[in-house]
Amino acid sequence: MPEEVLRQAAEQMLDWQGSGMGVMEMSHRGKEFGQILAEAQADLRALLAVPAHFQILFMQGGGLGENAIVPLNLSRGGVVDFVVTGSWSAKSHKEAARYAQPHLAASNADSGHTDVPAPEQWALSESASYVHLCSNETINGIEFQQLPDLAALGSRAPLVIDFSSHVASRPVDWSRVGLAFGGAQKNIGPAGLTIVIVREDLLGHALPICPSAFNYRTVADNQSMYNTPPTWGIYVAGLTFKWLLAQREGSLSGVAAMEQRNIAKADLLYGAIDSSQLYVNKVARAWRSRMNVPFQLRDESRNQAFLDGAREAGLLQLKGHKSVGGMRASIYNAMPLAGVQALVSYMREFERLHA
Ligand code: PMP
Repeated sequence: MPEEVLRQAAEQMLDWQGSGMGVMEMSHRGKEFGQILAEAQADLRALLAVPAHFQILFMQGGGLGENAIVPLNLSRGGVVDFVVTGSWSAKSHKEAARYAQPHLAASNADSGHTDVPAPEQWALSESASYVHLCSNETINGIEFQQLPDLAALGSRAPLVIDFSSHVASRPVDWSRVGLAFGGAQKNIGPAGLTIVIVREDLLGHALPICPSAFNYRTVADNQSMYNTPPTWGIYVAGLTFKWLLAQREGSLSGVAAMEQRNIAKADLLYGAIDSSQLYVNKVARAWRSRMNVPFQLRDESRNQAFLDGAREAGLLQLKGHKSVGGMRASIYNAMPLAGVQALVSYMREFERLHA
Protein backbone atom coordinates (compact mmCIF):
# COMPACT_ATOMS: atom_id res chain seq x y z
CA MET A 1 0.00 0.00 0.00
CA PRO A 2 1.25 3.53 -0.71
CA GLU A 3 2.09 5.09 2.65
CA GLU A 4 0.23 8.26 1.70
CA VAL A 5 -2.96 6.23 1.27
CA LEU A 6 -2.52 4.51 4.62
CA ARG A 7 -2.02 7.88 6.30
CA GLN A 8 -5.13 9.32 4.67
CA ALA A 9 -7.19 6.30 5.73
CA ALA A 10 -5.82 6.64 9.27
CA GLU A 11 -6.64 10.35 9.43
CA GLN A 12 -10.22 9.77 8.33
CA MET A 13 -10.72 6.58 10.31
CA LEU A 14 -12.99 8.18 12.92
CA ASP A 15 -14.50 10.97 10.86
CA TRP A 16 -14.82 10.86 7.11
CA GLN A 17 -14.78 14.39 5.68
CA GLY A 18 -16.56 15.94 8.64
CA SER A 19 -19.52 13.57 8.44
CA GLY A 20 -19.08 12.55 12.07
CA MET A 21 -18.75 8.90 11.01
CA GLY A 22 -15.96 6.65 9.94
CA VAL A 23 -16.52 4.74 6.68
CA MET A 24 -16.93 1.47 8.61
CA GLU A 25 -19.83 3.04 10.53
CA MET A 26 -21.77 4.29 7.51
CA SER A 27 -24.85 2.76 5.97
CA HIS A 28 -23.85 1.49 2.56
CA ARG A 29 -27.12 2.98 1.29
CA GLY A 30 -26.41 6.45 2.66
CA LYS A 31 -25.35 9.35 0.44
CA GLU A 32 -21.82 9.45 1.89
CA PHE A 33 -20.97 5.90 0.94
CA GLY A 34 -22.86 6.31 -2.35
CA GLN A 35 -20.43 9.08 -3.19
CA ILE A 36 -17.40 6.99 -2.15
CA LEU A 37 -18.50 4.08 -4.36
CA ALA A 38 -19.38 6.22 -7.38
CA GLU A 39 -16.05 8.06 -7.19
CA ALA A 40 -14.08 4.83 -6.80
CA GLN A 41 -15.78 3.39 -9.88
CA ALA A 42 -15.29 6.54 -11.95
CA ASP A 43 -11.65 6.84 -10.89
CA LEU A 44 -10.95 3.20 -11.71
CA ARG A 45 -12.58 3.67 -15.11
CA ALA A 46 -10.37 6.68 -15.77
CA LEU A 47 -7.25 5.01 -14.40
CA LEU A 48 -7.54 1.84 -16.50
CA ALA A 49 -9.22 3.58 -19.47
CA VAL A 50 -12.14 1.16 -19.22
CA PRO A 51 -14.44 1.66 -22.24
CA ALA A 52 -18.11 2.59 -21.71
CA HIS A 53 -19.37 -0.83 -22.83
CA PHE A 54 -17.69 -2.49 -19.83
CA GLN A 55 -19.21 -2.61 -16.36
CA ILE A 56 -17.06 -2.24 -13.26
CA LEU A 57 -18.28 -4.47 -10.44
CA PHE A 58 -17.11 -4.46 -6.84
CA MET A 59 -17.57 -7.94 -5.46
CA GLN A 60 -16.33 -10.31 -2.75
CA GLY A 61 -14.87 -13.79 -2.84
CA GLY A 62 -11.37 -13.01 -4.12
CA GLY A 63 -9.56 -14.52 -7.08
CA LEU A 64 -10.47 -18.03 -6.05
CA GLY A 65 -14.12 -17.07 -5.73
CA GLU A 66 -14.00 -15.81 -9.31
CA ASN A 67 -12.66 -19.19 -10.41
CA ALA A 68 -16.21 -20.40 -9.75
CA ILE A 69 -18.12 -17.18 -10.40
CA VAL A 70 -16.74 -16.75 -13.91
CA PRO A 71 -17.81 -20.19 -15.21
CA LEU A 72 -21.14 -19.83 -13.39
CA ASN A 73 -21.75 -16.64 -15.35
CA LEU A 74 -20.04 -17.13 -18.68
CA SER A 75 -19.63 -20.82 -19.49
CA ARG A 76 -23.29 -21.75 -20.15
CA GLY A 77 -22.08 -25.17 -18.96
CA GLY A 78 -20.10 -25.67 -22.17
CA VAL A 79 -16.48 -25.82 -23.21
CA VAL A 80 -14.03 -23.32 -21.77
CA ASP A 81 -10.42 -23.04 -22.94
CA PHE A 82 -7.67 -22.73 -20.34
CA VAL A 83 -4.12 -21.57 -20.82
CA VAL A 84 -2.23 -22.85 -17.80
CA THR A 85 0.98 -20.96 -17.10
CA GLY A 86 1.40 -21.50 -13.35
CA SER A 87 -0.27 -22.20 -10.02
CA TRP A 88 -3.15 -19.75 -10.29
CA SER A 89 -4.34 -20.65 -13.78
CA ALA A 90 -3.98 -24.33 -12.82
CA LYS A 91 -6.36 -23.69 -9.91
CA SER A 92 -8.80 -21.86 -12.18
CA HIS A 93 -8.73 -24.77 -14.63
CA LYS A 94 -9.48 -27.27 -11.88
CA GLU A 95 -12.32 -25.31 -10.32
CA ALA A 96 -14.10 -24.72 -13.64
CA ALA A 97 -14.70 -28.47 -13.99
CA ARG A 98 -17.41 -28.14 -11.34
CA TYR A 99 -19.53 -25.94 -13.63
CA ALA A 100 -18.29 -26.31 -17.19
CA GLN A 101 -16.17 -28.44 -19.49
CA PRO A 102 -12.66 -27.08 -19.20
CA HIS A 103 -10.32 -27.82 -22.07
CA LEU A 104 -6.58 -27.44 -21.60
CA ALA A 105 -5.63 -25.39 -24.66
CA ALA A 106 -2.03 -24.88 -23.57
CA SER A 107 0.15 -25.60 -20.58
CA ASN A 108 3.69 -24.80 -19.60
CA ALA A 109 3.88 -27.57 -16.98
CA ASP A 110 6.57 -29.30 -19.09
CA SER A 111 8.89 -26.37 -18.59
CA GLY A 112 8.22 -26.34 -14.84
CA HIS A 113 6.17 -23.17 -15.43
CA THR A 114 9.12 -21.19 -16.71
CA ASP A 115 8.20 -20.66 -20.36
CA VAL A 116 4.91 -20.32 -22.26
CA PRO A 117 3.99 -21.90 -25.59
CA ALA A 118 3.49 -19.27 -28.30
CA PRO A 119 -0.20 -18.39 -28.71
CA GLU A 120 -0.08 -19.71 -32.29
CA GLN A 121 0.48 -23.17 -30.77
CA TRP A 122 -2.49 -23.08 -28.41
CA ALA A 123 -5.15 -25.69 -29.17
CA LEU A 124 -8.15 -23.36 -28.93
CA SER A 125 -11.59 -24.92 -29.24
CA GLU A 126 -14.06 -24.09 -31.98
CA SER A 127 -16.88 -23.26 -29.62
CA ALA A 128 -15.44 -22.25 -26.26
CA SER A 129 -17.57 -19.81 -24.29
CA TYR A 130 -14.39 -18.09 -23.16
CA VAL A 131 -10.63 -18.49 -22.93
CA HIS A 132 -9.08 -18.10 -19.49
CA LEU A 133 -5.52 -17.08 -18.65
CA CYS A 134 -3.74 -15.56 -15.69
CA SER A 135 -1.98 -12.45 -16.98
CA ASN A 136 0.48 -12.44 -14.08
CA GLU A 137 1.32 -15.66 -12.28
CA THR A 138 2.18 -14.43 -8.81
CA ILE A 139 3.99 -17.54 -7.62
CA ASN A 140 5.84 -18.51 -10.78
CA GLY A 141 6.73 -14.97 -11.86
CA ILE A 142 5.30 -15.21 -15.37
CA GLU A 143 3.59 -12.22 -16.99
CA PHE A 144 1.94 -11.70 -20.36
CA GLN A 145 3.71 -8.67 -21.83
CA GLN A 146 0.86 -8.45 -24.29
CA LEU A 147 -2.48 -10.17 -24.33
CA PRO A 148 -3.22 -12.58 -27.16
CA ASP A 149 -5.46 -11.43 -30.00
CA LEU A 150 -7.86 -14.39 -29.92
CA ALA A 151 -9.67 -13.39 -33.10
CA ALA A 152 -6.37 -13.50 -34.99
CA LEU A 153 -5.83 -16.99 -33.56
CA GLY A 154 -9.16 -18.15 -34.98
CA SER A 155 -11.16 -18.10 -31.73
CA ARG A 156 -14.45 -16.26 -31.40
CA ALA A 157 -14.41 -16.57 -27.62
CA PRO A 158 -13.93 -13.63 -25.26
CA LEU A 159 -10.75 -13.57 -23.22
CA VAL A 160 -10.99 -13.77 -19.42
CA ILE A 161 -7.94 -12.61 -17.51
CA ASP A 162 -7.03 -13.02 -13.86
CA PHE A 163 -5.09 -9.81 -13.33
CA SER A 164 -5.09 -10.01 -9.51
CA SER A 165 -1.39 -9.49 -9.05
CA HIS A 166 -0.56 -6.84 -11.65
CA VAL A 167 -3.74 -4.78 -11.93
CA ALA A 168 -2.93 -1.08 -12.30
CA SER A 169 0.76 -1.77 -12.90
CA ARG A 170 0.40 -1.28 -16.67
CA PRO A 171 -2.34 -0.37 -19.15
CA VAL A 172 -4.87 -3.02 -20.25
CA ASP A 173 -5.72 -3.55 -23.91
CA TRP A 174 -9.51 -3.79 -23.54
CA SER A 175 -9.96 -4.56 -27.23
CA ARG A 176 -8.60 -8.02 -26.38
CA VAL A 177 -10.49 -8.61 -23.15
CA GLY A 178 -14.02 -9.77 -22.35
CA LEU A 179 -13.64 -9.91 -18.59
CA ALA A 180 -10.89 -9.13 -16.11
CA PHE A 181 -10.99 -10.00 -12.44
CA GLY A 182 -8.67 -9.49 -9.53
CA GLY A 183 -8.50 -9.46 -5.77
CA ALA A 184 -7.63 -5.99 -4.53
CA GLN A 185 -5.01 -7.04 -2.03
CA LYS A 186 -1.87 -6.65 -4.14
CA ASN A 187 -1.92 -3.29 -5.90
CA ILE A 188 -5.19 -1.73 -4.81
CA GLY A 189 -6.20 -2.04 -1.19
CA PRO A 190 -7.11 -4.33 1.68
CA ALA A 191 -8.17 -7.92 1.10
CA GLY A 192 -11.91 -8.43 0.81
CA LEU A 193 -12.67 -6.46 -2.36
CA THR A 194 -12.70 -8.19 -5.73
CA ILE A 195 -12.77 -6.16 -8.91
CA VAL A 196 -14.56 -7.47 -11.99
CA ILE A 197 -14.56 -5.53 -15.24
CA VAL A 198 -16.87 -7.15 -17.75
CA ARG A 199 -18.11 -6.39 -21.26
CA GLU A 200 -21.86 -5.68 -21.31
CA ASP A 201 -22.74 -8.44 -23.75
CA LEU A 202 -21.34 -11.08 -21.36
CA LEU A 203 -23.89 -10.23 -18.67
CA GLY A 204 -27.13 -12.14 -18.34
CA HIS A 205 -25.99 -15.67 -19.22
CA ALA A 206 -25.55 -17.11 -15.72
CA LEU A 207 -26.37 -20.74 -15.02
CA PRO A 208 -29.55 -21.23 -12.93
CA ILE A 209 -27.45 -22.52 -10.02
CA CYS A 210 -25.41 -19.30 -9.88
CA PRO A 211 -25.95 -17.63 -6.48
CA SER A 212 -27.84 -14.35 -6.97
CA ALA A 213 -25.15 -12.38 -5.14
CA PHE A 214 -22.60 -13.66 -7.66
CA ASN A 215 -24.68 -13.14 -10.77
CA TYR A 216 -22.89 -10.37 -12.68
CA ARG A 217 -26.18 -9.11 -14.17
CA THR A 218 -27.70 -8.77 -10.69
CA VAL A 219 -24.57 -7.13 -9.29
CA ALA A 220 -24.43 -4.71 -12.23
CA ASP A 221 -28.13 -3.84 -12.06
CA ASN A 222 -27.71 -3.03 -8.39
CA GLN A 223 -24.57 -0.87 -8.80
CA SER A 224 -22.54 -3.44 -6.83
CA MET A 225 -24.96 -3.12 -3.89
CA TYR A 226 -27.17 -6.17 -4.28
CA ASN A 227 -25.70 -7.25 -0.99
CA THR A 228 -23.61 -5.10 1.34
CA PRO A 229 -20.38 -4.40 -0.51
CA PRO A 230 -16.98 -4.43 1.23
CA THR A 231 -17.30 -0.76 2.10
CA TRP A 232 -13.93 -0.27 3.78
CA GLY A 233 -12.12 -2.04 0.96
CA ILE A 234 -13.89 0.11 -1.64
CA TYR A 235 -13.05 3.28 0.27
CA VAL A 236 -9.34 2.47 0.58
CA ALA A 237 -9.24 1.29 -3.05
CA GLY A 238 -10.75 4.65 -3.99
CA LEU A 239 -7.92 6.44 -2.16
CA THR A 240 -5.39 4.29 -4.03
CA PHE A 241 -7.04 5.10 -7.37
CA LYS A 242 -6.71 8.82 -6.64
CA TRP A 243 -3.09 8.31 -5.60
CA LEU A 244 -2.40 6.39 -8.81
CA LEU A 245 -4.11 8.99 -10.98
CA ALA A 246 -1.87 11.67 -9.47
CA GLN A 247 1.41 9.82 -10.18
CA ARG A 248 3.64 11.44 -12.80
CA GLU A 249 6.70 10.20 -14.63
CA GLY A 250 7.87 12.80 -17.19
CA SER A 251 4.90 13.40 -19.49
CA LEU A 252 3.19 10.20 -18.34
CA SER A 253 0.62 9.84 -15.58
CA GLY A 254 -1.45 7.17 -13.85
CA VAL A 255 -0.79 3.56 -14.85
CA ALA A 256 1.48 4.65 -17.71
CA ALA A 257 3.69 6.36 -15.13
CA MET A 258 3.51 3.31 -12.86
CA GLU A 259 4.49 1.12 -15.78
CA GLN A 260 7.69 3.13 -16.32
CA ARG A 261 8.60 2.80 -12.66
CA ASN A 262 7.78 -0.90 -12.66
CA ILE A 263 9.98 -1.46 -15.71
CA ALA A 264 12.86 0.37 -14.01
CA LYS A 265 12.43 -1.64 -10.80
CA ALA A 266 12.21 -4.98 -12.62
CA ASP A 267 15.19 -4.19 -14.88
CA LEU A 268 17.31 -3.36 -11.87
CA LEU A 269 16.45 -6.57 -10.04
CA TYR A 270 16.67 -8.95 -13.02
CA GLY A 271 19.93 -7.26 -14.03
CA ALA A 272 21.37 -7.95 -10.59
CA ILE A 273 20.24 -11.57 -10.70
CA ASP A 274 21.53 -12.20 -14.22
CA SER A 275 24.93 -10.66 -13.52
CA SER A 276 25.49 -12.70 -10.37
CA GLN A 277 27.09 -16.10 -9.83
CA LEU A 278 24.86 -16.89 -6.88
CA TYR A 279 21.31 -16.01 -7.90
CA VAL A 280 19.26 -17.39 -10.76
CA ASN A 281 15.81 -16.69 -12.21
CA LYS A 282 14.61 -19.54 -14.41
CA VAL A 283 11.76 -17.80 -16.25
CA ALA A 284 12.22 -17.25 -19.99
CA ARG A 285 13.12 -13.59 -20.43
CA ALA A 286 10.14 -12.71 -22.60
CA TRP A 287 7.79 -13.91 -19.86
CA ARG A 288 9.39 -12.47 -16.78
CA SER A 289 7.03 -10.72 -14.41
CA ARG A 290 7.61 -7.11 -13.46
CA MET A 291 5.70 -7.64 -10.22
CA ASN A 292 6.86 -10.97 -8.80
CA VAL A 293 10.48 -11.98 -9.17
CA PRO A 294 11.27 -15.50 -7.98
CA PHE A 295 14.94 -16.32 -7.67
CA GLN A 296 16.99 -19.17 -6.32
CA LEU A 297 20.37 -19.29 -4.65
CA ARG A 298 22.56 -21.72 -6.57
CA ASP A 299 23.76 -22.89 -3.18
CA GLU A 300 20.46 -23.63 -1.44
CA SER A 301 22.18 -24.27 1.88
CA ARG A 302 22.56 -20.46 2.07
CA ASN A 303 18.80 -19.82 1.95
CA GLN A 304 18.25 -19.35 5.66
CA ALA A 305 21.32 -17.16 6.04
CA PHE A 306 20.07 -15.03 3.15
CA LEU A 307 16.64 -14.61 4.74
CA ASP A 308 18.05 -13.89 8.20
CA GLY A 309 20.40 -11.23 6.86
CA ALA A 310 17.60 -9.74 4.78
CA ARG A 311 15.38 -9.45 7.83
CA GLU A 312 18.16 -7.66 9.71
CA ALA A 313 18.43 -5.25 6.80
CA GLY A 314 14.68 -4.58 7.00
CA LEU A 315 13.92 -6.58 3.86
CA LEU A 316 10.88 -8.71 4.64
CA GLN A 317 8.68 -11.34 3.00
CA LEU A 318 11.35 -12.62 0.63
CA LYS A 319 10.82 -16.33 1.16
CA GLY A 320 9.59 -17.95 -2.06
CA HIS A 321 6.34 -19.87 -2.27
CA LYS A 322 6.81 -23.45 -1.07
CA SER A 323 5.91 -24.83 -4.52
CA VAL A 324 8.81 -22.97 -6.16
CA GLY A 325 11.25 -22.64 -3.27
CA GLY A 326 14.06 -20.12 -3.03
CA MET A 327 13.15 -16.45 -2.82
CA ARG A 328 10.53 -14.18 -4.28
CA ALA A 329 10.58 -10.40 -4.36
CA SER A 330 7.11 -9.00 -4.90
CA ILE A 331 7.70 -5.48 -6.15
CA TYR A 332 4.16 -4.20 -6.44
CA ASN A 333 3.20 -0.66 -7.41
CA ALA A 334 3.69 0.74 -3.93
CA MET A 335 7.27 -0.57 -3.64
CA PRO A 336 9.51 2.39 -4.46
CA LEU A 337 12.66 2.09 -6.56
CA ALA A 338 14.63 2.73 -3.36
CA GLY A 339 13.22 -0.52 -1.94
CA VAL A 340 14.53 -2.49 -4.92
CA GLN A 341 17.86 -0.66 -4.70
CA ALA A 342 18.13 -1.71 -1.06
CA LEU A 343 17.39 -5.32 -1.98
CA VAL A 344 19.94 -5.33 -4.79
CA SER A 345 22.66 -3.86 -2.52
CA TYR A 346 21.90 -6.48 0.09
CA MET A 347 22.03 -9.28 -2.52
CA ARG A 348 25.41 -8.05 -3.82
CA GLU A 349 26.83 -7.76 -0.34
CA PHE A 350 25.56 -11.23 0.59
CA GLU A 351 27.12 -12.71 -2.52
CA ARG A 352 30.42 -10.97 -1.82
CA LEU A 353 30.53 -12.29 1.74
CA HIS A 354 29.47 -15.81 0.86
CA ALA A 355 31.19 -16.35 -2.49
N1 PMP B 1 -5.06 -15.29 -8.68
C1 PMP B 1 -3.86 -14.72 -8.52
C2 PMP B 1 -3.08 -14.34 -9.71
C3 PMP B 1 -3.37 -14.50 -7.23
O1 PMP B 1 -2.17 -13.94 -7.05
C4 PMP B 1 -4.14 -14.86 -6.11
C5 PMP B 1 -3.70 -14.62 -4.69
N2 PMP B 1 -2.37 -14.51 -4.45
C6 PMP B 1 -5.38 -15.47 -6.35
C7 PMP B 1 -5.81 -15.65 -7.63
C8 PMP B 1 -6.25 -15.92 -5.21
O2 PMP B 1 -6.82 -14.81 -4.65
P1 PMP B 1 -7.69 -14.87 -3.33
O3 PMP B 1 -6.81 -15.33 -2.24
O4 PMP B 1 -8.14 -13.44 -3.22
O5 PMP B 1 -8.82 -15.80 -3.58
